Formats: sequence, structure tokens, C-alpha cells
Amino acid sequence: MNSQDSIYRTYNVSPVINAAGTKTRIGGSRIRPEAIDAMERAAESFVVLSELQSAASERISELTGAEAGYVTAGASAGLLLAAAATIAGDDFEAMAQLPVTDGVADEIIMPRTHRTAYDHAFTAAGGTIVDVGTNDVELGTGAATVEPWELHGAISEQTAAIGYVEKSYTQPPLSVVTEIAHEHDVPVIVDAAAEVPPVANFERFIDAGADLVVFSGGKAIRGPQTTGIVAGRSALIESIALQNLDMHIARDIWDAPSIIDSVALEEGVPRHGIGRSAKVGKEELAGLLAALESFVTEDQDAVYETWMARSTYFHQQLGGIEGVETTIDTSGESRAPVVELSLDPAVIDHSATEIAADLRSQDPRLFVGSDRLTEEMIVLNPMCLTDEEVEYVLERLLEAITPKATSNVEPFTE
Ligand SMILES: *Cc1c(COP(=O)(O)O)cnc(C)c1O
Repeated sequence: MNSQDSIYRTYNVSPVINAAGTKTRIGGSRIRPEAIDAMERAAESFVVLSELQSAASERISELTGAEAGYVTAGASAGLLLAAAATIAGDDFEAMAQLPVTDGVADEIIMPRTHRTAYDHAFTAAGGTIVDVGTNDVELGTGAATVEPWELHGAISEQTAAIGYVEKSYTQPPLSVVTEIAHEHDVPVIVDAAAEVPPVANFERFIDAGADLVVFSGGKAIRGPQTTGIVAGRSALIESIALQNLDMHIARDIWDAPSIIDSVALEEGVPRHGIGRSAKVGKEELAGLLAALESFVTEDQDAVYETWMARSTYFHQQLGGIEGVETTIDTSGESRAPVVELSLDPAVIDHSATEIAADLRSQDPRLFVGSDRLTEEMIVLNPMCLTDEEVEYVLERLLEAITPKATSNVEPFTE
């Protein structure tokens, strides 16, 4: 698409060319055409949302091996709902007061090294995070992240769940944590927001004993940015549904959807729960389901090859510049092969920070990976680019990375 035609120009806002990867602050990922099509069709008619969530639950259950599933308004919303479910369970009184937890077990135990900015979602639901272990294992002081006995020791009558963040380097292994938790009948919530691909990871954490696993729908799945998936035990998913759905129902003529056990409603109907503020629309639900089908059936190797071809091109075209060293890093967390450009400050006119800032101020704006600017490194992620945009990225970088002007001053010699 021509960036001149971008809808954002209507609002006098410059569009962004994204060489930074799936970053929410610039719009996440490139939604799949199948998902857009599904959203358009979903907009044409109404549907009972709880029935559509029940159908989604069955599909998520097939893909993950979990008992049930739910579509949320992002992985962060999924973490909030997971916390709400483990705190309130099937107790309508507890649901009604969240995030206030008077008289309700609300502690969510986390290994300290798993704390992230996203665990605010646990506290937003009323959870109290109790972290255990050591927060730094890099200092060489003989520390491990967390020992199994520390998790044992933290579990009490006040425990609602254990929170676990899945990354390739997280310790201890999930199966060790789920075993300890289940000895005490405590559920484990896994934040696996960015852990697919590989598609096999949909099953991996459930297989390792997780009770609820949360994925983002707006990263590599390339569904609507505002979607996520929770997979897990049906009793917990039912609690999520009760606390997320709009519960203003005409009870006498209401057919409980399969996701909600109708027996639970004999005592009455809960009010709108804490999750009502994180609602999911029919368009997002349909879009996520379509994106999911496309994601699990596409040729992942071919997708990887496309990314690799773009990164190889950057590597070849930029590697020849004096003062720039390029490498393709395939080990990173983003799962795409990224190109690292190391700039030699003795040769290159501007710092990596200045160059990245300059690229952002262009029209259209160009965002490059900026997590390592202080190391004089610019990172290019191929995931969110089109082939035409690859050219734009290359041209802008060739303009921006220039050698220092040669000085007229005679070098000092003794
Ligand atoms: C991206 C991410 C999230 C949030 O996902 P959203 O779908 O944007 O809400 C949560 N946890 C981790 C570890 C993430 O990487």
C-alpha cells in the first residue's frame, strides 16, 4: 500500500514502517486478510456472544489439548481474567466484589525473575503478588532464580494461584512448578503471550500441567491486535466467562451456553464482573478465530524463509558500509531472524540513538529495533514488513548511516 493513502493521514498522523517487530505501541502485527474478511462478515449480523465464545472454546480446546478456552481482549486481559478466575472460582459473592478481596484468598505467587510489567493485570483483578526467589542470577554470587522449596514455603491458605512467565530461559521448569502447585491444589497461570510459533507450543504448557495458559492473538498469530486466548481447565474458563460476559440477561428465557454450567446459575446470576471492562466484540472474536485457522495451517517454514530472505538482503546491502558490522541473529526471543547493525562510533557520524531518532522523524516514520541503542546497535526485524517496505527501510538507512567528515586538522604527532 502507498503510504500517501494511509488512513492515518486523515488525522494528520504519519504512518509507520515497522522494522521493529510486534510492538503494541506502533500497532502490534499485520492482521491477516482472512481475519479482516471474517471481521467484515461478523459485522453484518448479530450473534449471542456466549454461544460464539462456546464455539471458540471448542476450537481452542482441540488446538491446545486443554479442556476449554476463551477469547479475550489481548493477553494482558487474559491474565486479568485468569487471576479473577483463580481468586473467585465459582463464588458469585467473590466475583461481585473483585478487585476487593475481603475474606478471599488472593495471593498469586511468582518466582521473582518472572515479574514483568504485565503482571499488573494480576493485581488489577484483586490479586496480591507474593514473589519468591532471587532477582538477579547474573552477578555470579551463587544464586539460582528460585528453588522448589521456596515455592512450597510460600503456599498458604491465602494462595489463589502461582503465576509463571514462559520464556526459553525461565527457571524452574514449568513441570516442576505445576507439580508443587498441584500437591497443594493450587492452579498455575502461564503467561505464554509471545510463545507461538511454534504451533506445537499451544499444547506444550498444558502438557506440562498448566491450569490456564494465555497467548496473545495480536502477535505472530496476526489476529486483531485486541485479542488473546486463554486455554485451560473448564471450571476456570467458566469463571472467566461469568466475569467477562455481559450478564444482563433475561433469565427466564436464557439458554446457558455450553461454556457455562447451567447448574451454577440455579442460585442466581452474577452481576457484571471485573472482566466486563475488557469486553470482546463479535468482530474481534470472528477475526481471531479466522486468524487462528490460518496460523495453524500455514507453512511455518515458508514464513521463516520469507523473513530470512529479507534479513539476508539487509545483511548484504548494509554489511558493506564502512564502520558497520552486520550479523543475522536467529537466537532471539522474537523468533524471527533479526539483523543487528553494530555501528563504529569512530567512523560513523551519528550515534545509534541519533540515527534511530532521525528515522522515526521521517515521513513515513521508520521504527527500528531500539532495545540495544546504548550498545551502538540498531536491530532490524523483518516480521512486520512488506517487500516494498524493505526497500524503503534500506534507502532510509543508507541515507542515515554516513561516515564522519574527514577532519582538516593535522593529527597530533610528537
Ligand atoms: C505481549 C505480551 C503480553 C501482552 O499481550 P497483549 O496481547 O498485547 O495484551 C503479556 N505478556 C508477555 C510476556 C508479552 O510478551
